[in-house]
Amino acid sequence: MTFQLRGATLVDGSGRDPQPTTTVVLEGDRIAAVEAGSPNGSARGDVIDVDGLTLLPGLIDAHTHFGIVNFGEDRAPAAVTAARIFRNCELALEAGFTTVRDVGGIDGGVAQAVELGLIAGPRIFPSGPILCQTGGHGDDSPPFAAAHHPHGHGLPGLTQPGFPCDGPDQVRLAARDVLRRGATQLKVCVSGGVVSFTDRLEDAQFSVEELKAAVAEADARDTYVTAHAHNVKGIRNGLAAGVECFEHGTFLDESTAQAMAEAGAYLVPTFAVVRIFAEKAKEWGVPDEIVPRMAGIEDAMARSLGLARDAGVVIGSGSDILGPEQDRRGLEIAIRAELGDPMEAIVAATAVNARILRRADDIGIVETGKRADVIAVDGNPLTDAKLFDDPSRVVLVIKDGRVVKDLR
Ligand SMILES: [Zn+2]
Repeated sequence: MTFQLRGATLVDGSGRDPQPTTTVVLEGDRIAAVEAGSPNGSARGDVIDVDGLTLLPGLIDAHTHFGIVNFGEDRAPAAVTAARIFRNCELALEAGFTTVRDVGGIDGGVAQAVELGLIAGPRIFPSGPILCQTGGHGDDSPPFAAAHHPHGHGLPGLTQPGFPCDGPDQVRLAARDVLRRGATQLKVCVSGGVVSFTDRLEDAQFSVEELKAAVAEADARDTYVTAHAHNVKGIRNGLAAGVECFEHGTFLDESTAQAMAEAGAYLVPTFAVVRIFAEKAKEWGVPDEIVPRMAGIEDAMARSLGLARDAGVVIGSGSDILGPEQDRRGLEIAIRAELGDPMEAIVAATAVNARILRRADDIGIVETGKRADVIAVDGNPLTDAKLFDDPSRVVLVIKDGRVVKDLR
């Protein structure tokens, strides 16, 4: 199928200035041409009129949890949980996200179901269950249960949030098992978490030796490790072990930001989840005692974002949205635009995230040869980034050269 998207202003994801009245030609699953002004001889195929709209690359969320649809004791039937996960895939696509990195929860099979066209959703890079230490973030075993008790660890083959493992040998085994189940990269916890019952945000988790085992297993498969990390103690351990990417980065300091930049490590801040946590916690099934743990996090994260930017860290974009109905994914871009520069917020959620996912040669920018993932939004995202938080303003979504949403 060949299309030409005619007349839109193009914000191509690279950070270059918007280009008015463009023609973008899609051929099969690739972008065949990007032309300024009215189409010349090379433009061909069916015309999709996007005059008055803004064209962007398909958005990328580097921090999703499609499979974390409830916390604590979930008595929902497996079919209901499956339906909720599939619904979250669909909602992400409707919000303009054509690629996501799931950083804990869904099985590789969910990514495969999308790839086979059985369910609507973005291209998913799953991390499988999060490797975590006993008693650390991700270990949701009930009190008095023995270590590595299987309770609370999800539904086999569908979703499993955490995978407790201790010592380099167990981490190695867990890493291999997670990769066997379809993970495309590994996720570990190097610090305590907010939605956590038996640790503190200040805790460092996993030893450098344990983290090195995960990094070695990832590296053996030409992939990488990303780490849940709120504090600098955990980030320092991660850097010492060769962890490539850090999620949240809530309590950074100048020297650690500098060390991240020197190591070429990435940061993925996650503001959206923080902003709407209090309002949604009940619906997500988060117990009341967890809510106060979120106090002060947004301000700290904003300060860390500034430190990382000043140090020259490459900064991606992740929503960390949880729960049964994940419809606020684009809020992350709106908040980042509010905190800094709207163009920077867009580039973080497109070209930079593509680089973090090691897919910069394939996605993230609207240019010839890249995958035909393109969206059109109603409005100017550089002056009104709030539109990303309203899926009804994402009027056209094209993934792999196929129109998957069209509200024009
Ligand atoms: Zn998360």
